[in-house]
Amino acid sequence: MSEQPILNLEDVSVTYKRADRSKVTAVSGVNLTLNKGEILGLVGESGCGKSTLGKAAVGILPTSGGEITFNGTKVEPLNRSMRSRELLKLQLIFQDPYSSLNPRRKIGDQLIDGLLNYGVDEDEARESSAHLLERVGLSRSSLTKYTHQFSGGQRQRIAIARALTLQPEVIIADEPISALDASAQAQVANLLVELVGELGMSMIFISHDLSVVRQISDRTAVMYLGKLIEIAPTREIWDSPRHPYTKALIQAIPKPDGKGFLPLELPGDVPDPRLPPSGCRFHPRCPVAVAECSVREPQMAQTDGRWSSCLLNNELRIEGSAHVV
Ligand code: SF4
Repeated sequence: MSEQPILNLEDVSVTYKRADRSKVTAVSGVNLTLNKGEILGLVGESGCGKSTLGKAAVGILPTSGGEITFNGTKVEPLNRSMRSRELLKLQLIFQDPYSSLNPRRKIGDQLIDGLLNYGVDEDEARESSAHLLERVGLSRSSLTKYTHQFSGGQRQRIAIARALTLQPEVIIADEPISALDASAQAQVANLLVELVGELGMSMIFISHDLSVVRQISDRTAVMYLGKLIEIAPTREIWDSPRHPYTKALIQAIPKPDGKGFLPLELPGDVPDPRLPPSGCRFHPRCPVAVAECSVREPQMAQTDGRWSSCLLNNELRIEGSAHVV
């Protein structure tokens, strides 16, 4: 894996209006870089903004601040038919393949769409699609079938094949296995890892399941209430998490023997993103919070070679007024 950036998110925020007209900042000032050949895991509890960030990164959702560039090209929220060929090299795989596959059209017709749009001959497009279906573990006869004729795992394989038709360089997989049963989860996760390596792609793998992210990711980024709060090589995150929230997430992972699932040992739920807590957003739930945490917002900073956003790790430690977490 190189350290050559392919997708760069700089100070990205995403704000949207709810039906009741209240504004929600789902993503706030996120800086993130995906390197060529890298698998980056993006984790956090439900509602932390990780899926919103993934959709913004491929231009499906508009940003309210910051800039996203892919191979140096600015990513802008355009619909699929208006996207430049370059930006089609950036593809999203959804949690629920039903949201990206049309149940009324044959699989083959859906797979060849993108290729036909770019002038590929129909026979060639069908042959290429059949080859992709075989590569994801399905028979070429799947071309003439409909979505409802497949299991959940098979549908996700079809969605992956569809994303691959335009030979993407970056895949953003948004909870791609969370709707599948346990055996299909492992198979689809392994398939994605194989394809990333084989086709020289890079991937952001969004998941609330840190145990899967641990197995497949080179680096892991952790989000809490719209903010990135820690990022590091996955082994470092696993062996020595720095942020108190990351520590709690790791404690909540089932043990390898399958026993002793620990609930997330934090008081309360994720706060309402319309009214994020003052200071550090995590302070109402943080087991080691100090008085300053409720009034001072920590910044993402590097201390001892580790990036995290915690006053005790960075600001207060540097000022010599707090112990190290
Ligand atoms: Fe906990 Fe304070 Fe660090 Fe936030 S800044 S994670 S509240 S110790």
